Amino acid sequence: MALKAHDTVRRVLLPAPRSFCAGVERAIEIVERLLEDHGPPVYVRNQIVHNAHVVADLEARGAVFVGELDEVPDDALVVFSAHGVAPAVEREAAARGLDTIDATCPLVAKVHAEAKRAAEGGDTVILIGHEGHEEVVGTIGVAPDRTLLVESTAEIAALQVPDPSKLTYLSQTTLAVAEVETIAEALKQRFPQIKGQGAEDICYATSNRQAAVAAVVNEADLVLVLGSANSSNSNRLVELSTSAGVAAHLIEDAEAIDPTWLENASTIAVTAGASAPPRLVDEVVQALAALGPVEIIERVHTRETQEFLLPQRLRPTAQRRPS
Ligand code: SF4
Repeated sequence: MALKAHDTVRRVLLPAPRSFCAGVERAIEIVERLLEDHGPPVYVRNQIVHNAHVVADLEARGAVFVGELDEVPDDALVVFSAHGVAPAVEREAAARGLDTIDATCPLVAKVHAEAKRAAEGGDTVILIGHEGHEEVVGTIGVAPDRTLLVESTAEIAALQVPDPSKLTYLSQTTLAVAEVETIAEALKQRFPQIKGQGAEDICYATSNRQAAVAAVVNEADLVLVLGSANSSNSNRLVELSTSAGVAAHLIEDAEAIDPTWLENASTIAVTAGASAPPRLVDEVVQALAALGPVEIIERVHTRETQEFLLPQRLRPTAQRRPS
């Protein structure tokens, strides 16, 4: 069905921040630099970030995405994705002598370090996260024998822990802030001595995008979230909107807009998860503007200034630390 034209002015709200975060920009830049400096193929274990457009673009330039290291030839250059890998994967790569570059977001690496510290101190780690998500697989892999995964408060009553006085909870970086706070509170009720920092492991990009949408959702008749189906932080933006009673849809790009969604939607909020390129938002705005008059309103909740350094070997010589 074609998108339907209209005569009345439609409001398009653009909550900010939206789209790429510093960890995603860094991961993409790592692959781009390697494609330029080393030349293709550059192997990437898993999607470098969870976005189909980013992956297709890098694939067209010579990146080869694989699920496991056994799909990579012995002399290959391999990038670990922004979601991080379990130490066992690093050991496998080292045992094969593969040349690896780690594009793990520093904020995921921070959670890995917390898990390592807790496990080495004798604690059982309770990880709040979604089973099967690559970040969760990597974090569990830091201390697989000492980590328990919890997805919801409903699972807490049945948790069996070796010592209730030796517990630390952590979370996946891209969950809903309110949900993690609720689960953390329920963990504290059941295990009063558990250590943890509320929703502190949720990264700035995830919490900022949620807060920016929360600030506009009550004005909107419809929320469109650019992002891929496997993008955790994008899905959380849809959930936040629907739980506020506003229709919301996760879309890969402008072509995915269903014209029936736009009927009676005089104010539409358009945002994007941290792995979705900004141009996809521009294309949605253009598609909406092509249907009739629009008033485009940017709603800035927070200005992000976070930047992450590239791995040592990809930095300009002046930025490298002496080894
Ligand atoms: S969403 Fe958060 S954890 Fe993921 S890459 Fe971006 S900053 Fe890092």
